[in-house]
Amino acid sequence: MRISSEHVIFEMNKDNEPALQVDSGSTVVFETLDCFSNTVQSEADVVSSIDFSKVNPATGPLYVNGAEPGDTLKVTIHSIKVADQGVVVTAPGLGNLADSITEEETVVCRVTDDYVDYKGIHIPLRKMIGVIGTAPAGEGVNTGTPHDHGGNMDTTRIAEGATLYLPVNVEGALLAMGDLHATMGDGEIMGDGLEIPGEVEVTVEVVKNFNLPVPLVETEDLWVTIGARETLEEAGKLATHNMVKLVQEKSELTFNQAGMLLSLAGNLHTCQVVNPNVSVRMELPKALLK
Ligand code: CA
Ligand code: CA
Repeated sequence: MRISSEHVIFEMNKDNEPALQVDSGSTVVFETLDCFSNTVQSEADVVSSIDFSKVNPATGPLYVNGAEPGDTLKVTIHSIKVADQGVVVTAPGLGNLADSITEEETVVCRVTDDYVDYKGIHIPLRKMIGVIGTAPAGEGVNTGTPHDHGGNMDTTRIAEGATLYLPVNVEGALLAMGDLHATMGDGEIMGDGLEIPGEVEVTVEVVKNFNLPVPLVETEDLWVTIGARETLEEAGKLATHNMVKLVQEKSELTFNQAGMLLSLAGNLHTCQVVNPNVSVRMELPKALLK
């Protein structure tokens, strides 16, 4: 089963018409546009030419039968395929260097199976999903904004082989995703990764009585909690509190003791500092817990 990139949304919203309806346990391919709706094709296509009403398209939503509010949606990411060309852009006012940027610029990069060719510098390929989430219960949330439903988390760990757990806030969950990156540095300091169209194959499963905090990523070796809030401070505290909950669920440690474990062995990383909410993740090696 497949959802084509003709089915895109710009808001994660409970009222969105499902693009596809499947049973729990189904495997689905999402075809995704890049975050500029594939409108940046050459180095002449600079930021001022971009239609910002079409930024961050997410393919979907997918309705999963049996998903009810309070459940968790388990999304196993089998593969991420990306095109052979991606783009990175900048302009005055964007990102951490905003005030010092004097002109806009777009760089087109060739992408091979192993690396991104950025002006002759070979950056290892590190494919990831920037935007992925379920519909929130109340008001819709723009696909550019991350929060508790997921969304524009820009978390490098949301990659091939990882499992992402998301909240089910509305019937069917309404999963959508897009904004693939061929590579991205933590922080995403200019406001974008190597933006690229592609397709993602996932299996979706409804989990009842999931007791761990979400959004949560599980990799081969790590548990990763994600917090997205207005400030780095708030986002970091949320990611940390969520990891304490996970540790307490999986050990006999008290709140204090779980916190001290994270002080010794948990790693707090910035995901991105450029979206309407910033996102921070806490990582803990799975081997430290049962
Ligand atoms: Ca993004
Ligand atoms: Ca992006």
